[in-house]
Amino acid sequence: MKSSVWNMIHELQRDSEDPVCAYVYDLAGIQEQVRHMLHTLPRGTRLFYAIKANPDSRIIEALLPWVHGFEVASIGELLKVRSVSSEVPILFGGPGKKENELKQAIEHQVSFIHVESLLELRRVIAIATRRGEEVRILLRINLRSSTLPRTRIVMGGGPSPFGMDEESVEEAIRVIREEGAGSVRLCGFHFHSLSNNVDARLHAEMIELYLQKVEMWQQAYDLHLEVINAGGGFGVTYDGSPGFDWSLFTSLIERSEARGRLASRGIQLYFEPGRMLVADHGYYAAEVTDIKTSHGQHFAVLRGGTHHNRLPASWGHNHPFHIMSTDRWGHSFARPEVRDNKVHVVGELCTPKDRMHSDAEVERLRVGDIVVFEKSGAYCWTISHHDFLGHPHPAFHYLTEDNNHVNSDEACQSARR
Ligand SMILES: *Cc1c(COP(=O)(O)O)cnc(C)c1O
Repeated sequence: MKSSVWNMIHELQRDSEDPVCAYVYDLAGIQEQVRHMLHTLPRGTRLFYAIKANPDSRIIEALLPWVHGFEVASIGELLKVRSVSSEVPILFGGPGKKENELKQAIEHQVSFIHVESLLELRRVIAIATRRGEEVRILLRINLRSSTLPRTRIVMGGGPSPFGMDEESVEEAIRVIREEGAGSVRLCGFHFHSLSNNVDARLHAEMIELYLQKVEMWQQAYDLHLEVINAGGGFGVTYDGSPGFDWSLFTSLIERSEARGRLASRGIQLYFEPGRMLVADHGYYAAEVTDIKTSHGQHFAVLRGGTHHNRLPASWGHNHPFHIMSTDRWGHSFARPEVRDNKVHVVGELCTPKDRMHSDAEVERLRVGDIVVFEKSGAYCWTISHHDFLGHPHPAFHYLTEDNNHVNSDEACQSARR
């Protein structure tokens, strides 16, 4: 863990009598990673950020100079991006777009609307016709193929509310030509079939399949396309196993002949990851407020829990963490601790579901120590039930290039898992 993050959390405890409960987002780390990712992307590809992974305005601002644009899936998300930039390119997706959302998306000049059903296509045509302007769209397609990789979260290759089935492409194109001429322009196709895939080779094969399908449709229907959006879904691991190999992935994409052919016709390839850009750069720090033994098992209770970071409960995994040993103890009586033992790390909610890690092996964990959950930058705060039980929200802090000084050799004791 970065020592600047470590220092910041230490300072939080020093500066307050209340137990620490905070998110720290390392904005400099996010920027550094995006720069690295951009560096290896082949020419003619563009990187967008899907803000649902973490819609924090500071993160959107930090990414603004680096990414080509943002993917949003509601008016709330759209306005959030527009509050940071009035002109950055926006892709507008989502399976349940309402009339007034489509209208607002057009008013806010999104670059493309991802159209996800034939009904939605007709809605867009009707709105565009009324407004007398041409709306640029990508059709989101759910491929039939059973060759798509399987991951924990799958949105395509089988029954799904996302996008339209491959079989509908022909009809969609007919509707665009017969009913939408002059009001809707088909600029390309969008695919986002899975999330949290850690197999780079499989991911590249899947994208090859997307590209081949698009080439086929392009020829069959004589289409003039600008963009293929290959979605996000690059995975992050939470159990210490190797994550997504971005360099391998981009080298495979670089070598793809289908990509080369499409690029030579001026067709751009978009990616719109969420998780991979931010997961590793968020930390959720929660101080231990009690330690107890019940029926032979040890429990460490945190100031915080799954109402702030629901990912481990949502996925049923043990969330990785470090223990920050601290001197916080002002009492004359003994400071409760667990030593060389297993402990369940739980939250402050009155429900047994509020568990961040089961059976964590620790050398020592004491009341007043701080548990720092790593990989808490994506789908953690944003998916959580913040007001369940009415505890105060965590504080939010940001590391930037300016305060990102490295000057600590603080030893950090990792939880042995
Ligand atoms: C959620 C989502 C993404 C981002 O997915 P990650 O797994 O976070 O990369 C991209 N595109 C669409 C359409 C999505 O729904």
